[in-house]
Amino acid sequence: MPHALALPLGLDSEQLAAIEKTELHQHVDGSIPVRTVWELMRRHGLAPASTEAELEKLLVLQPEEEGTLLSYLDKFHYPLWVTQFFENIERVVRDIVDDAVAQGVRTLELRYSPVIHTYAGLTLRQSIVAVLSAMRERIRTHGPDRLRCGLVVIAMRQQGPHIAKILARQAISEAHHLHRVCGVVGFDIAGAERGTPPRLFRDAFEIASKGGLGRTAHAGEDEGAACIWEAVDVLGVNRIGHACSAVHDRELIRRLARDNILVECCLTSNWQTGAARREERHPLYTFLEAGVPVAICTDNVTVSGTTQLRESALVAAELGVEAVAEIHQKARRHSFLASEPGG
Ligand SMILES: [Zn+2]
Repeated sequence: MPHALALPLGLDSEQLAAIEKTELHQHVDGSIPVRTVWELMRRHGLAPASTEAELEKLLVLQPEEEGTLLSYLDKFHYPLWVTQFFENIERVVRDIVDDAVAQGVRTLELRYSPVIHTYAGLTLRQSIVAVLSAMRERIRTHGPDRLRCGLVVIAMRQQGPHIAKILARQAISEAHHLHRVCGVVGFDIAGAERGTPPRLFRDAFEIASKGGLGRTAHAGEDEGAACIWEAVDVLGVNRIGHACSAVHDRELIRRLARDNILVECCLTSNWQTGAARREERHPLYTFLEAGVPVAICTDNVTVSGTTQLRESALVAAELGVEAVAEIHQKARRHSFLASEPGG
């Protein structure tokens, strides 16, 4: 979709491209390049579409599909047909990392739910190690001074608190601080928010915290501010994914600012899921004005039909290129890669 990737007029694209970017919220499953899914589907004799262009329509949210989180989440099924095998997981992560580096990303946290990659028999541990193995290889290729990389393990809300606890234990056994090159840096909950409030996952977050992992949670994407309060008060998160509904709660915004809790903002994704409205100012600007730290993130490069450069350009069109460079620089300090063990 080259037309969708055109940068807003009047911006210095070279200057934007040169910014060292910090990507703190990017899902593996929603960011696999279409060309890679196409190639792997063909290799495995799978044909949900007869051409790559048709497959693209299945993987990338189409304008007429915009408006709800559930139709957005529907886009995640097809990649799972091929990402059940160790080498395929390595392959997709390599391609995602390379695409991010090409966008100027120098600090990259990818996130992923290990459970949904075990349908063909991989263990949870293997499913985590497959991602880390590819990351380590790409760090060696690009150079550790050019690329820092880590994995955030996601517990899917609908799989419940027990699975989340098991995952948290698996995640800490592969924690970044136990490895020389890279490892698991954080823990997250994701999936439809209704019926699965953050408080249910208190024990899992406690395990993750004691194991030295950073804590973030998808919250306030399709639910109100109360679930963000819970993520802060009960789960003790260091960062929040989306938090769009916080804009309606001044006290919550003050709390996020006071406790230096970063919001991982994903503009295009928020418009597509209906978490934010295109015709209104995005919550990112309200957070910034109130002193809440923010990061500019893609969420899902493929599903959202975006790139880190494009998301940065959207903010630069409002605030200018220098402000975007500053946001990325400050966000780097909030990366779980920057944390000390146990911090
Ligand atoms: Zn997300």
